[in-house]
Amino acid sequence: MNTFTHYLNNFIGFLDWRIFFDIPIIAFIILLLYRTLKSSGSWRIGLGILIILILYPLAHVLKFSGISWIFDNLSQIALIGLIIIFQPEIRKILERAVSTLRIRKIVNDSGNISWIISDAVFRLAEVRWGAIIILPGKEPLESRVTGGVELKAKLSIPLILSIFDRHSPGHDGAIIIENGEITKFGVRLPLSISGRFGNEFGTRHFASLGLSEVNDSLVIAVSEERGSVSIFHHGNCDIISSRNILQYRIDDHWKDNSRISPLNGLSQKKGFFIRQAGISLFLAFVLWLSIISSTSQQKQLTVTVPIEYKINEKMIIVGDSPSIARITVSGSVSQMNSLKPEEFIATIDLKHVLPGEINVSLTKGVINLPAGISLVDVNPANYILTIHSFKQQRFFIKPQFIGSLPENFEIESVVTTPDELSVWITSDQPSSEDIYLTTTPIYLQTISQDTKLICNIIAPPGIIPINNKQWPEVYVSINVRKVDE
Ligand code: ATP
Ligand code: MG
Repeated sequence: MNTFTHYLNNFIGFLDWRIFFDIPIIAFIILLLYRTLKSSGSWRIGLGILIILILYPLAHVLKFSGISWIFDNLSQIALIGLIIIFQPEIRKILERAVSTLRIRKIVNDSGNISWIISDAVFRLAEVRWGAIIILPGKEPLESRVTGGVELKAKLSIPLILSIFDRHSPGHDGAIIIENGEITKFGVRLPLSISGRFGNEFGTRHFASLGLSEVNDSLVIAVSEERGSVSIFHHGNCDIISSRNILQYRIDDHWKDNSRISPLNGLSQKKGFFIRQAGISLFLAFVLWLSIISSTSQQKQLTVTVPIEYKINEKMIIVGDSPSIARITVSGSVSQMNSLKPEEFIATIDLKHVLPGEINVSLTKGVINLPAGISLVDVNPANYILTIHSFKQQRFFIKPQFIGSLPENFEIESVVTTPDELSVWITSDQPSSEDIYLTTTPIYLQTISQDTKLICNIIAPPGIIPINNKQWPEVYVSINVRKVDE
């Protein structure tokens, strides 16, 4: 119940005017993606990706660690792979998104031009002369077709018939009709690679389908073998049975291009479009909900971080200074998943402090947490550091003898190497005259011959090895001699 109200509160927190743009834009992208994949025949790959996208959260919820690992680690490589695989589709989506805002002027002479085209097409069909006619849409066509001869001639039935006359040298390929003119003839189209047609169709129809998969042109094909008329648009193929239907489709295509419409070529299938738009909107809403729920879901993590002290070179911390802290951080699930806790460090800046006792607080400001991650708990949160300034001085090292030699022995000589050491002495020491360094205890009782010992140094408080390093070892050579009774 608690988590439900948490979600609800989060959801309400996101409800503002932005969702009226956010969700429709996501829906528009989904619709564009769907229609592009469908018209280019790549919808199977798209379906595969959709299944993978559904599988991913499912694997997370069911804690399938193997699948989750593959997703987490290969998703970035897969993304690059997808960009390469879908390069043509991505290009098409971008072209579509831009061309959506373009408007093409119609020069239709109140149906005269579309009638000329329809009539000419059916006359070609009657005499069984093969033909392809391209009526460009909003997207750029030049990069999709090759070859062709520039014409720029006013459209007429005799002109179309004479171009596609089998005896004419220019009958191969397609013509482009724009603004009431035949702008080119003998144009070559890209062949379809979607494999949606069987072998009953030849290259003319594959070429017509191919162009309609990558471009929003309306392509009319007349079959030489069958005498039939087909229209190819957005990767769909329709057989056209009469001049009137063809004229209607041509006018419709031009109407679509003369206004800002998000997705052209849909007016004849309004109900279908509304259904697709509705599904896209629903998917966009689900996606949006899952995004906000994943950004609002919080996750906590407790880690150990090192503490680094930055201190003036003439100062030193004496006594205890913690070198690690346990911190608990929290953030959204997606933020926490990309966190690198091993890079966390607490930095205490003591560069400008004066000698004495310093109160240190481990707050968010001293730990390099990324933005959006909050600090929930720190241990230790506060502590006191003692800081002293120091100077350098040399002191003698005295071997520390305990007890005395066995009977009849006496010390002949003692050599300490080194016998003095340069050290740091903190400024709070009252007087340095009667301070000296000693070795760890040497028990004389057991020594009855010349001996060399390795000892450690014992220093009074306030005397620190140089650079705060370890004390060096000291060699003490004791020469003994036997005393005559
Ligand atoms: P039809 O039903 O008219 O026989 P088809 O689909 O069976 O057509 P083909 O018989 O192979 O196709 O027709 C070949 C003709 O199609 C060529 O002569 C040429 O005019 C045209 N054609 C073939 N490929 C292309 C292309 N890539 N671009 C433009 N036109 C092409
Ligand atoms: Mg043929």
